Amino acid sequence: MAKFALRKMRRKGLPSMSAQTVESRTSTENPSDSAGTSVDLGPASGLSCRECGQRFELGPIFACELCFGPLEVAYDLPLGDPEALRKQIEAGPENIWRYAPLLPVPADVADKPNLNPGFTKLVKAENLARELGVESGKLFVKDDSGNPTHSFKDRVVAQALEAARAFGFTTLSCSSTGNLAGAVGAAAARAGFRSCVFIPHDLEQGKVVMAAVYGGELVGIEGNYDDVNRFCSELIGDPLGEGWGFVNVNLRPYYGEGSKTLAYEICEQLGWRLPDQLVIPIASGSQLTKIDKGLQELIKLGLVEDKPYKIFGAQAEGCSPVSTAFKAGHDVVRPQKPDTIAKSLAIGNPADGPYVLDIARRTGGAVEDVNDEQIVDAIKLLARTEGIFAETAGGVTVGVTKKLIEAGLLDPTLTTVVLNTGDGLKTLDAVAATSQATATIRPSLDAFRDAGLAH
Ligand SMILES: *Cc1c(COP(=O)(O)O)cnc(C)c1O
Ligand SMILES: [Zn+2]
Repeated sequence: MAKFALRKMRRKGLPSMSAQTVESRTSTENPSDSAGTSVDLGPASGLSCRECGQRFELGPIFACELCFGPLEVAYDLPLGDPEALRKQIEAGPENIWRYAPLLPVPADVADKPNLNPGFTKLVKAENLARELGVESGKLFVKDDSGNPTHSFKDRVVAQALEAARAFGFTTLSCSSTGNLAGAVGAAAARAGFRSCVFIPHDLEQGKVVMAAVYGGELVGIEGNYDDVNRFCSELIGDPLGEGWGFVNVNLRPYYGEGSKTLAYEICEQLGWRLPDQLVIPIASGSQLTKIDKGLQELIKLGLVEDKPYKIFGAQAEGCSPVSTAFKAGHDVVRPQKPDTIAKSLAIGNPADGPYVLDIARRTGGAVEDVNDEQIVDAIKLLARTEGIFAETAGGVTVGVTKKLIEAGLLDPTLTTVVLNTGDGLKTLDAVAATSQATATIRPSLDAFRDAGLAH
């Protein structure tokens, strides 16, 4: 009980969890009254409160009626024959739907119009390993820039879209730091949904264009992401937002589950083995917590050996509420006003911050941050060593990996997976000034010789 009270206090800063919203959703519009019988989300058996454990029927709700804690999807997992399950997965499509038996989606999900993200490359990064002093064969980059809209967000949106379909929504929406808006716009276009997405007005051009090009509505909000999120929470509780599925608000429990597929893929691609260490970026912290959930499920299902692993979180110094709390030994995350080039990670009041702290501490990992200059250096390091052009969030994870190795916190002799969650083409400004033509010459051999570039 004491622990419960403490947890409740830790979460009190969360603006989106209003009792008003929850009550109107559950009692008057009754999705949870009817959901239990009519909604087919595969192995998902309900929602459970992460704080007090209270169970709810499947529906577009996201906060506990009793304690306002966040809800997450609970499952009837296919426990029993791990070998049969592994074979079933391996025979599935080369995208996230190969893991459909472990996700809140109907069994025939692969037949529905969806962008089918996932099964991105796990790159053995030998050149980067050499530069960072990591043992040969031990360093991997999970490169999620290979998704349909070039960020990991396609995974979570694909899940939320299936939930939106199941609950009868026809408009898909979100508050976004940039990548999510593009992923929602594209998924809605493919599935024949309307979309209306909200972003801070001052995002990078690459993100704005990616969000607008798919033909849905795109609204710039004068404020930062936390302002956008607060606005969306109000919209959900208002008749103006009636019938809208906000992927990261009222569909958040389902959305989050998409990140589990990163855990599944990494383990499958390592030959059904757990990595020893993972370095994961933190915006709201959803991705990090769900990767941990996915790893725990694989252990429970007997698909990987049960052994310890360490989870490291990565933030930008200019928006580092979680790493600040980690280093101070706090279990409360104090909100910050973001100021960093890593805009996709610029959430000053991260909803899952306290859970990230729990996971980093439980697994023996850490949360660290790097400044803008180190982010740029890390983007260029990854590009020059492995031919992977990461967005600023990838600069954050690679930069933090380097820093953790130098600090002796990350063991360079163990299998380590570093996430690159987005594509450098969306954040060109970060490196444009220092990535220009080596020389500009007349089209003649003499000019080329004079430029001193012949090898
Ligand atoms: C959204 C995002 C993340 C992580 O987001 P969480 O809110 O922590 O789940 C990481 N990288 C990129 C590029 C993103 O767009
Ligand atoms: Zn609760």
